[in-house]
Amino acid sequence: MSHYGITSEIRRLFGLSIPFVIIGLLLQQLLLVLSFGVIAYICYHLLNLRRLLKWLKRQRIEDIPDASGLWGEVFDQLSRQKRREIREKNRLQKVIGRVEATTSALNDAVILLNVNYDLNWWNQATERLLDLKPSDVGSSIINFIRNPQFVNYLESNDYGIPLALPSPSSQETQLEFQVTRFGEGEALLVVRDITRIYKLELMRKDFVANVSHELRTPLTVIRGYLETLEDSQDPNLQTNKHLQKGLEQMQQQTGRMTTLINDLTMLSKLETDRTGKGEQDVELKPLLEMICNEARTISGEKNHEINLDCNSSLTLFGNDRELHSAFSNLITNAVKYSHPEKTIDITVNINPTGNLIVSVNDEGIGIEQEHISRLTERFYRVDSSRSIRTGGTGLGLAIVKHILLRHDGRLQIESDYGKGSTFSCIFPAQRVGTTQV
Ligand code: ADP
Repeated sequence: MSHYGITSEIRRLFGLSIPFVIIGLLLQQLLLVLSFGVIAYICYHLLNLRRLLKWLKRQRIEDIPDASGLWGEVFDQLSRQKRREIREKNRLQKVIGRVEATTSALNDAVILLNVNYDLNWWNQATERLLDLKPSDVGSSIINFIRNPQFVNYLESNDYGIPLALPSPSSQETQLEFQVTRFGEGEALLVVRDITRIYKLELMRKDFVANVSHELRTPLTVIRGYLETLEDSQDPNLQTNKHLQKGLEQMQQQTGRMTTLINDLTMLSKLETDRTGKGEQDVELKPLLEMICNEARTISGEKNHEINLDCNSSLTLFGNDRELHSAFSNLITNAVKYSHPEKTIDITVNINPTGNLIVSVNDEGIGIEQEHISRLTERFYRVDSSRSIRTGGTGLGLAIVKHILLRHDGRLQIESDYGKGSTFSCIFPAQRVGTTQV
């Protein structure tokens, strides 16, 4: 940093004091004359200080005072700093302008909320999607989206899955809300119009439900005729090996189609029915015992050892038919994908956080890691020929996943290829109870 101001100021002080000393000596009043000099010097500084204060009030670059010496350096520095500040301000303004132009070009609403969920800023699309007006700055977002699901989502601090809700202004419009936290508790809320996708999804669900329903009648008729033919005492039919084989295969395939239609109907029901319908405290032990007995029948000659370990007082709040279907799918899979005589263990535990875990462990063929994340997709099979041979539709685990979601639970899959698998259903503590003794 240069000190040219100080040097020239000292030089000026010396230069000015010489005439004062000479005059003082000539008049033999050195002290008095020097005092005049000092007063004049102080006045000069006060004057410049006043100019500085005056400039600081408005801080306009073109009004910066002009001076020499120390004050010259002060004003120069100020001028440089002011120019730098203006340059930086212009740069930031350009960035803000670009961000604003980009966000206003977005079709999605982008909203900045403070820690108390008050509206700080939003882009143009927000005014269209949520009907916000400039005067709404500072109001709480909850005044505009009053749906309790939205309030719960906002306060949950778990924003992994976006929330879909009808728009507050029109039931026809479906919106998706996604929150991201940043800074010191502030939140960025992005709202997307998903009406088109939602309608397509509805159409898909309706289509699957209708197709399944429509196929049921012709299939029942075909099955009826096949059974009549099987029971027929017609000697031509009894002796004709080709016909017998054909009939057998037709029966097998219609059986598969019936299972497929039943699974599809179940899935579309799960997707369209309201959650929470017919829920009650379900006693787990009798339910699982019944499923284990059904599984033993399916196992038949394969003679799997099926063990159940469940506290007899445990209950789970849910829909017993849906829970039966979920556990039955897992236990039946364990039978289907395990070699004869192998052991299948069904255990029910409560973990330290109070969650209930129903685990189905088998010593079966196991699943390679790369398949595990995709197992709950519809029609996903690791080995489709094996699945079809065992009567699988590829929908079982999709049904399980849906049922668990409807019970606020989740499915955890662990597997060791060639050694066996464990499928665990995890339910939240608030659904778990015990029967009164
Ligand atoms: P599927 O009706 O074909 O059994 P699922 O949806 O029930 O359909 O299961 C999907 C796939 O996951 C199955 O095709 C099978 O490959 C694999 N799978 C499911 N359970 C087990 C298990 N206990 N052991 C090994 N593989 C399994």
